[in-house]
Amino acid sequence: MRAAMYYGNHKLEIEDIPEPSAGDGEVKVRVSRNGICGTDLHEYYDGPIFIPPEQPHPLTGKAMPLVLGHEFSGTVTEVGAGVTDVGEGDRVTIEPVYRCGHCRPCKSGRYNLCTSVGFHGLMADGGMAEYTVVPQNQVYRLPDSVPLELGALVEPMSVAYHAAVLGEVNDQSRALIYGAGPIGIGLWFALRGMGLTEIDVVEPSPTRRTSIEALGARTLDPTAVDVPELIADRTDGDGVDAAFDAAGVTPAVVSALECVGERRPLISVAIYDKPIPTPLINLVLRERRIQGTICYTGDDYRAVIALMAQGHYDTTGWVDTIPMSGVLEQGFEELRAGRKMKLLVDPTT
Ligand SMILES: [Zn+2]
Ligand SMILES: [Zn+2]
Repeated sequence: MRAAMYYGNHKLEIEDIPEPSAGDGEVKVRVSRNGICGTDLHEYYDGPIFIPPEQPHPLTGKAMPLVLGHEFSGTVTEVGAGVTDVGEGDRVTIEPVYRCGHCRPCKSGRYNLCTSVGFHGLMADGGMAEYTVVPQNQVYRLPDSVPLELGALVEPMSVAYHAAVLGEVNDQSRALIYGAGPIGIGLWFALRGMGLTEIDVVEPSPTRRTSIEALGARTLDPTAVDVPELIADRTDGDGVDAAFDAAGVTPAVVSALECVGERRPLISVAIYDKPIPTPLINLVLRERRIQGTICYTGDDYRAVIALMAQGHYDTTGWVDTIPMSGVLEQGFEELRAGRKMKLLVDPTT
């Protein structure tokens, strides 16, 4: 079968490798679509970062080289002994998290924080291939109304949904999202799904503003308006109930900390590759807080899949599919240059 094999920095090969088969408790999936994530770009251009170069991961036993891809959907073609929840022909999406099951976070149900967490497609052969094999606890069946293209977006949309939950908001809340990339868009859908109507998306790029506006979002251009001043005006100085940083740049964090109301959170869902200087006195004076967020658990997966089944997520204008043979030129390079927003790889082409 064909697969996108990661050999290290700037080394990704489309090659023929043996087709895997399902062992005990495992499920074999014929991959339909596999999304390219910012993490994949980091691994290719700056990595290896999460991918273990030599030392095999404790839960998967795998190290480089391995098949990339952790955001995918497909159809079950084989199940190993002991698998009862899914069967051949089921359309599924994958929660690509390996967890130990006995560390403190795992025991409290927060396995996204497992002390030896691993990911399918970073610490095991992933979904950028015609077939892949996963443990049965990573498999979620898709309702008939959810197409496989959308199913491949459950993973990134769950990252955003988990962040939205941590914002502790309700349908009366006012929220501010910084960054209109795929996670910013996912935050907007998640918050809308929770019933919020007062949401502004702060985004300096006109093309990104246009695409999220086409979905129905309200935007602010931080190069044209003073966002903290505007929010203060609109809220009689109260500020927003939650701000979300999906931009990961200093101006976003500085602005967000001025906009959040007293005792309310700034939720950080960005990859900060550099330290960010920000006046933390803005945190102290109003008892604001910064809350990090990473990945998701099954609760987020179920919530996103249920919203998708209701037709809540719209991919118009921000999601495209490319052939796996073009993963570098049409995929990584286009995303890196900011010419595309979200790309799904079809491993059969
Ligand atoms: Zn990802
Ligand atoms: Zn654990």
